[in-house]
Amino acid sequence: MTFYLPGFRSFPKLWTSTLSLELGPATSPVFSFLRVTRNQHRWFSVKTTPPPNSKEINLQLAKARTLKKGHDSNRQGSFDHYFAAGAAKKRSHLTSNLQPREHAPSRVRRTIKLPTKPLNSEEWDKLKEDFNRKGSFEDWVISQMVCSSSSVDVAKSLLAWVAAKNNGIVGYNLLVKYLCLCVFHKQTSEVIDVYEIMKAKYKCLETAANTILIRGLIHSDRWREALLLLEDIKKVTVPSKRNYNDCIQGALLHQDVDMAWSLYQELVGHNLIPLLETLKAFFDFGKDINDDDYSDKLLDILLYLRNNQLYPGESFAHSIKTWFESIPGRQWKGQFTTVQRSGHCSSCGRALESIHLSPEEYEFLKGKIMRDVIDGGDQYKKTTPRELKRFENFINSCPPFDIVIDGLNVAKMFSKSRDSQILLYIVSQLAQQNLQLLVLGRKHMLIPSSRWRKDEMEWVRKLAHCFFADDISEDDPFLLYATLNSGNHCKFITKDLMRDHKACLSDVHAQHLFFKWQQGHQLAIRINFQKSKLTFQHTLSYDTVVQTTGDSWHIPYDEDLVQRSSYEVPTKWLCLQRKTQAPAGS
Ligand SMILES: [Zn+2]
Repeated sequence: MTFYLPGFRSFPKLWTSTLSLELGPATSPVFSFLRVTRNQHRWFSVKTTPPPNSKEINLQLAKARTLKKGHDSNRQGSFDHYFAAGAAKKRSHLTSNLQPREHAPSRVRRTIKLPTKPLNSEEWDKLKEDFNRKGSFEDWVISQMVCSSSSVDVAKSLLAWVAAKNNGIVGYNLLVKYLCLCVFHKQTSEVIDVYEIMKAKYKCLETAANTILIRGLIHSDRWREALLLLEDIKKVTVPSKRNYNDCIQGALLHQDVDMAWSLYQELVGHNLIPLLETLKAFFDFGKDINDDDYSDKLLDILLYLRNNQLYPGESFAHSIKTWFESIPGRQWKGQFTTVQRSGHCSSCGRALESIHLSPEEYEFLKGKIMRDVIDGGDQYKKTTPRELKRFENFINSCPPFDIVIDGLNVAKMFSKSRDSQILLYIVSQLAQQNLQLLVLGRKHMLIPSSRWRKDEMEWVRKLAHCFFADDISEDDPFLLYATLNSGNHCKFITKDLMRDHKACLSDVHAQHLFFKWQQGHQLAIRINFQKSKLTFQHTLSYDTVVQTTGDSWHIPYDEDLVQRSSYEVPTKWLCLQRKTQAPAGS
């Protein structure tokens, strides 16, 4: 995190050494730990930390910035395809501006204010008197402290007060939460103290505590003990990717490369998708070592990103660039860039991989959609076998379509106008271009009503092929089938993002092909009522995925300040080129 609020840059020392402790007899490790650390004046090691919730603040700032920039980028009109990172957010922002805002119920006011500096016993007693909630005061306070990342000193004064009241005993829950704070503030020596206490007091710890301890220990020279804790977790469950991340980071931090890679293999072997920061750590470490074996492993990571449709974040992209440029004698040069609508890299001019599926991929996807999405087993029953048969017969009696329209969905796009009027408008605009159209609808659209006028629907049926399904059927599977059946040239119009159908597909490969196909074939319409003009957001011609030609790499990445939905793709790229000519003068 690089962002600091003005005034937070140097976190002021919040209190002085006047804390009075009334400690009980020195019977428990907690007691001695508190006393020892007090004597060592570690109480005052408040480090400069980003303010709590700085990520939240970052996002707020980003929002403000993108909103400001939003107008400019609209004017430029580039990279405004339907699946562009942040586009959904923009769309929802536009919609929410049109609708009356619902005010979130104001939060229940806190009965007591969290202290910002350590309190003495009397002060804690007083605070407890004001506490009027159910449950334990101590548990509530420490939980609130964790949520708001209170300083370690304040939490420690709470623990001291609790210990003083309970003959030096501090409960497990309190200790673990305190540990969280120490780890968050990177107070490693405190972490080790608590670790010792917990080891002495409890034979084994549960996974949550082990997880926090691993986090805290990897920065110390006792980092190998984190690996033992990882083993403890393995006895109970599969460690999380976060556990592996921490241990790998610890190993790299202490130059144990073999350990780091073997943990990585184990992680991938459990079919866990590693955290991007784990992968980034390997690249960061790689710039200092010159070893072909290590380099090959990093290239494998890039292919792993490709195969799993993962995109590095901005700082990871920087790490990748730095690593490539650091390889001695290879002359790599990286540029951050964008890709033109034509699918050419703006930096090197190369054409990126096409979004279009190969004939084999196309057939594979078509078969999968039929089996998994449309028939789809009992729990996903989308239609009756009789209706499916009727639809198949209908499709076979028509020529291949150019555009398949989700009639109900597009008609509802503009709520102020009559549904049949909008549908007729769209259909007639497209029909003028001599396109073979299919309008999919429901039977109720044919019953005249205030939203569906008979004469307009008759016009629609004259201009386009129409299929009206039973009102209880879902139309998306029909839409997918009709489009895929017409061939690769056929596009479809709906506002629906069809995430459910993607999820129905049984394997990751098919899901990837579906998303790729969707990006290349789904049209999003815009109507400019003033100019009475219908336009489409352009569809992508290139595939947004990590790709290489051997002497070049193109790596899409996520910008820190853009919130991308899972069904969107990044618009920023890292272009890496290897200079093939020998350097001048050699
Ligand atoms: Zn390029």
